[in-house]
Amino acid sequence: MKANAGISGFGESAVRRIRSEGGKWRLECTTGSIVARKVLIATNGYSSEDVPDWLAGRLLPVLTQIIVTRPLTRQELDEQGWTSFQMCYDTRHLLHYFRLMPDINGEGPRMLFGMRGGLSAKTAPQMRMHMALRRDFERFFPAWRHVETPHYWSGLACLSSSLSPYAGPVPGMDNVYAALAWHGNGVALGSHTGRRIAAMVAGDQGAPSLPAPMRQIPRRFPFPPFRRIGLAGAYRWLALVDR
Ligand SMILES: Cc1cc2nc3c(=O)[nH]c(=O)nc-3n(C[C@H](O)[C@H](O)[C@H](O)COP(=O)(O)OP(=O)(O)OC[C@H]3O[C@@H](n4cnc5c(N)ncnc54)[C@H](O)[C@@H]3O)c2cc1C
Repeated sequence: MKANAGISGFGESAVRRIRSEGGKWRLECTTGSIVARKVLIATNGYSSEDVPDWLAGRLLPVLTQIIVTRPLTRQELDEQGWTSFQMCYDTRHLLHYFRLMPDINGEGPRMLFGMRGGLSAKTAPQMRMHMALRRDFERFFPAWRHVETPHYWSGLACLSSSLSPYAGPVPGMDNVYAALAWHGNGVALGSHTGRRIAAMVAGDQGAPSLPAPMRQIPRRFPFPPFRRIGLAGAYRWLALVDR
């Protein structure tokens, strides 16, 4: 689609710095640099604190993780009494999210089951969280204790201090915009907002505006260097409340 629209893409080339140059922006990347009139930052949980500096302390990346079962048979579905393809989550603060995925190739539907990740993406803590996820899966679905979950995926979602996404201009940087902080719900909302922000960047005055909470500039977190310590405390506290 990108190529059809006459757009060039430059993958595997992280932007390291954005600096102004002759009324435009120069994006210094790992493999070269480009000059752009307009820039949209859509780096979500993978953002750097200094690309651009405005982002410093405004976002909190959090790990989240999912497992997916092998295809389930009709009998297995009946044994667990699960009939719905409806996406679900439980009412905990540290919630679990799950849904039966559509059976697109006739092998049987698979169950997707997810929850928060840990505080570190290093191998050992990641494996511990993977095991905790599998344990919770078995508690939720005891009839599927024997069902393998061969697929695992973990990555970064992105929170802001206002607990709202942001889409709009970057203050103090003409023609630079940001659309991020989807709080783990970016597939539909990010795609929808992408159209809206594209209209804004293109200067389409008639485009409908985004909801007010998404137009509020995200504030810096209090004591930004201690965000991860705060997150560890929040996880402990919320786990107690959830019990
Ligand atoms: C395990 C897991 C399960 C999830 N489940 C759901 C779900 O069920 N429903 C849902 O709606 N959402 C879900 N999400 C969240 C969803 O994946 C995100 O909200 C969505 O991917 C955000 O899209 P994005 O394009 O804004 O950012 P991302 O997909 O995070 O992409 C950001 C991109 O920016 C790039 N980048 C970062 N820094 C730079 C740089 N300096 N220069 C160049 N590129 C850079 C990164 O390489 C990355 O490709 C899940 C996430 C995870 C990890």
